[in-house]
Amino acid sequence: EPELAGDFGTLMEWADRHRRMKVRANAETPADCRMARQFGAEGIGLCRTEHMFFDAGRISAVREMILAESEQGRRAALAKLLPEQRADFREIFEVMAGLPCTIRLLDPPLHEFLPHGDAEFAELAEATGVDVGRLRRRADELHEFNPMLGHRGCRLGITYPEIYEMQARAIFEAACEVAEASGAAPVPEIMIPLIATRRELELLRALVDRTAAEVFLEKGRTLEYLVGTMIELPRAALMAGDIAEEAAFFSFGTNDLTQTTLGVSRDDSARFLAPYVEKGIFARDPFVSLDVEGVGQLVELAAERGRAERPDLKLGICGEHGGDPASIGFCDKVGLDYVSASPYRVPIARLAAAQATLR
Ligand code: PEP
Ligand code: MG
Repeated sequence: EPELAGDFGTLMEWADRHRRMKVRANAETPADCRMARQFGAEGIGLCRTEHMFFDAGRISAVREMILAESEQGRRAALAKLLPEQRADFREIFEVMAGLPCTIRLLDPPLHEFLPHGDAEFAELAEATGVDVGRLRRRADELHEFNPMLGHRGCRLGITYPEIYEMQARAIFEAACEVAEASGAAPVPEIMIPLIATRRELELLRALVDRTAAEVFLEKGRTLEYLVGTMIELPRAALMAGDIAEEAAFFSFGTNDLTQTTLGVSRDDSARFLAPYVEKGIFARDPFVSLDVEGVGQLVELAAERGRAERPDLKLGICGEHGGDPASIGFCDKVGLDYVSASPYRVPIARLAAAQATLR
């Protein structure tokens, strides 16, 4: 149980009185959302939907969808996932009770969902009626040499729009149901990952808007919602003015932005970064504390270019840096509206945001 009363509560109250930036949480389960609220989160800044796809009860349908050889096959598998995905979002919206929720559409490389080993292939063959040899050949076709630069992020939505359609439908259906039942209308903010160009976002925003219109017609009600993008590739930061034409908000994905700007793998850097810090090449691990001089320039430039195009553009950060006090100071300086951190880091983020404002 978090200790949130007494002196701790008083300190947080002082911080909240002074800070300019809002503090949200990165959370994707109802338990984490509850925890985030207890710690004072003012919304969800990043709900990573891929975790829901890895759920033991669903992974079989996810694999069936990925290995399907036609759109029809993918749609059939996605239809199985829709009710559970809708239930995921319902629970989150219920817990968040009208606070903004940024839900990111599917992001990871497809191969992460592939079956491994004979037993998993055999299980899938039985579920789908497709023989193991054929499933294995299809899985081989999906193999990627450089998956973090591969078939992931919005590229999934461009190549297999039916995946994002299912997720958008689940979000809007859940939001309508919760609004109906509770009166506290959810505020979904649908976020598209790994955007590099305005056209990608234009196509995917149209898909989300189309799906929203369909659901609202079926449900006989409309809800407010936003469509925005992560800025996590240098090209997106440079083209932020253009991209802002299609986005109601930007959220800086500084994990990927650090990886792609420094050309350093976020998954392998632990093997060689320590000497870089020891020798003073980086003051701190750039995946923990924002490389303000390099990556930070891209954040600042994107914020300026985005706001020049769209003055009401909402700006946040949802990379790990959103919970790092030094990086939070930088976020305040460049005018972000909120930071989003893991639930346990929400209190330190509230404090750091207040210190930044006072400074
Ligand atoms: C990021 O890249 O900073 C981000 C928040 O997304 P993920 O860590 O899920 O790639
Ligand atoms: Mg990312």
